[in-house]
Amino acid sequence: MIFRADDSTEALKRKASIFILTVMTFAGLLATVLHAFEPQPHLLSRVIPPSTVVFCLSLLLYLLKVPQQLSLVIKLTLGWSCLIFLLPEYFFVIDAWIHPDRRLVDSFPPISSGFFLLISGIVVFLQPHRAIQLAIVLWMAIAAPVIIYFSFHLSELSTPRGIDLMITLLPSMAINFTLLLFYSQLQDAVVKLYLERLHFKEVAEKDGLTGIFNRRAGEKFLQTLLEQSEASIGIILCDVDHFKQVNDRYGHLVGDRVLQTIAHCCQTHLRKQDILSRWGGEEFLVIVPGETETELLHLADRLRMVIANHPIPEVGHVTASFGVAVLQRQETLVQLFDRADQALYQAKRLGRDRVMLAPASQPVEIDRSLR
Ligand code: GH3
Ligand code: MG
Ligand code: MG
Repeated sequence: MIFRADDSTEALKRKASIFILTVMTFAGLLATVLHAFEPQPHLLSRVIPPSTVVFCLSLLLYLLKVPQQLSLVIKLTLGWSCLIFLLPEYFFVIDAWIHPDRRLVDSFPPISSGFFLLISGIVVFLQPHRAIQLAIVLWMAIAAPVIIYFSFHLSELSTPRGIDLMITLLPSMAINFTLLLFYSQLQDAVVKLYLERLHFKEVAEKDGLTGIFNRRAGEKFLQTLLEQSEASIGIILCDVDHFKQVNDRYGHLVGDRVLQTIAHCCQTHLRKQDILSRWGGEEFLVIVPGETETELLHLADRLRMVIANHPIPEVGHVTASFGVAVLQRQETLVQLFDRADQALYQAKRLGRDRVMLAPASQPVEIDRSLR
């Protein structure tokens, strides 16, 4: 059983549950064998250990087959543990109470370590805050009958087993709770750090104005795609036409809104696997994995039309030009961008509001039938 630092909480819980269920199965098996050698085992000793083996083994196999049912398995394991510890406890306390010739310190089964495990298990496996309350209720349910019994049978309290039970149920459990509270606060701190990390990751990867990925994230995606995927990689460079005039005529704030609208239009038009990033001022980059040149051209042209046909309040219609390139064998990313840039430059030179494909050698204009 190896717990790794990069395991998710679910994976850690699953591993721990598998381990605990395995141990419980073996412990039940051992208890079954030991009780089989007793001359006259108690009914509970004959029933609880073998049924624990069957129950825990079934849960273990179920968890291995249906890992997504982890939460149900945890609840059933904790429920079963409550049953097998509380049932004998209450049985023997009541039995000793109604039979004055029987002493609890002689008949109480050796299950006090199980109380510790049960309470710790509840706090560790269930949601910490609710779990602490549940564990306190359970502790009271466990401790109450024994404490009440001993307050009326002080002679039994002064025996070694009586003292041992009281130490287990009071000071030791109090220390256990202190440790569990510490654990629960540590859990809170870990969750807070995790959320903060998510926030900082988002801030580091997203463009503040448009909310799409920034250039750094775009470059990272492209590099990862290059290293990990066998699929073809295409890029679409998009540059808003005469954007300086928009700023000059309507002001910088309106210009910002135009960029936001264009980013939004493109984002809603792209598939999940396509990555849109803001490449620079009024330039956007779309990374398209697994498409042919023709499909890439169609996509770029659809983006062009989406932008051109989307009226923007105050400004009216804006257009953009596109340079498209598909990564060639042996080509570096710098060379790929260089070709896409040249294609974009050609699109601008030929009159803007158009898509140009950069062939391995020279850029060619898109077939008009695509427009
Ligand atoms: P072309 O059709 O040749 O691309 O012309 P253009 O005017 O779009 O290109 P140019 O490079 O001359 O101008 C780009 C302008 O984009 C200049 C810059 O002030 C503006 N810009 C860059 N980033 C932002 C931004 O975040 N917000 C606003 N409002 N304007 C920006
Ligand atoms: Mg530009
Ligand atoms: Mg421009």
